[in-house]
Amino acid sequence: MSKIPVYQPQLDGNVSTYVNECLSSGWISSRGEFISRFEEAFAQYVGAEAATTVSNGTVAIHLALEALGVGPGDEVIVPSFTYIASVNTIIQSGAIPVFVDSLTETLQVDPALIEAAITPRTKAVMAVHLYGHPCDMDAIVAICQNRRLYLIEDCAEGFGSRWKGQHVGTFGDAATFSFFGNKTITTGEGGMVIARDPEVMERCRRLKSQGVSPTREYWHDMLGFNYRMTNIQAAIGLAQLERADEFLASKTKLAETYAERFASLPVRTHVPVGEVTHSYWMCSLLVDDSRIRDDLRSHLSRAGIETRPFFAMAHHMPHCRTEQVLPIGEDLSARGINLPSYPGLSSEQIERICESVSGYFERAA
Ligand SMILES: *Cc1c(COP(=O)(O)O)cnc(C)c1O
Repeated sequence: MSKIPVYQPQLDGNVSTYVNECLSSGWISSRGEFISRFEEAFAQYVGAEAATTVSNGTVAIHLALEALGVGPGDEVIVPSFTYIASVNTIIQSGAIPVFVDSLTETLQVDPALIEAAITPRTKAVMAVHLYGHPCDMDAIVAICQNRRLYLIEDCAEGFGSRWKGQHVGTFGDAATFSFFGNKTITTGEGGMVIARDPEVMERCRRLKSQGVSPTREYWHDMLGFNYRMTNIQAAIGLAQLERADEFLASKTKLAETYAERFASLPVRTHVPVGEVTHSYWMCSLLVDDSRIRDDLRSHLSRAGIETRPFFAMAHHMPHCRTEQVLPIGEDLSARGINLPSYPGLSSEQIERICESVSGYFERAA
């Protein structure tokens, strides 16, 4: 019986053609035509003025924070229920993450709790569009405008996600994407930053390349990094972007199949709430308690089906632990499972997953 992983990239289309162009031309490092072609096509896809490539989605967030001038003495409000990179990059910038709880229905940060967490030191809010469902951007944009806070969107899991038709990442001051191997479009490792203010965008471009002066060779007038993407990664990214609509359509169909097939089971799928486009980075299930969650995962594992638990809460991690109780996120984190969610799943594989999940609850009944 073949194993079904949680994720697997689809590397067909023009991937090998474009990569071979890099190899035969010799442009394998961080200069080359695919960099700008990928940046321009990506900006156009999400509806941004411009975009700049980076080596992964984590440094993308760090670069955005640095370019906005977030640093020591500042607080950044972030959901604790997120992937750890959202939080680590705040700490790396020298700022302090201030954790808030999430909402049960959408799994996204609770805007009312953002408002309540603002102090005189708050500099920015980080909205994370978790598992492909957008955050409440009306509420979060209003809070950031009224309270004069930067809004950074971590869209690593939000490629293809829209709030009232508008692509996530275009609501705030800066936004970041990840192209890790299991993200909706991939470059192996890779990321992208977009920013509203052209000056912030320009600072991102300089900071990612050792802070080099645009006019004087080997002159570095700011503390920069090497966060550049390679032309080979960008070649893969451009080919992936050409397939993006197909990937998103099959992921949506998969999520709808799971929702239909599990409708009468004691589980909740992650359905879109409000006027949103859910991109279903991950198709998830919430079961009644953590014991069932672990048991169901073992049952699926014995059937050769890989699953992932929901993220652990960031405020429980040793390096950024707080004594807060964030009951919604803590509860979600203990009860959630991600199912295989990639566009290349065959109908036989989908059938096997659905049968196996249903079989678990029939056996338990
Ligand atoms: C994947 C991910 C990141 C980090 O991206 P990498 O490319 O793995 O560095 C950041 N935030 C969230 C929410 C993610 O899912």
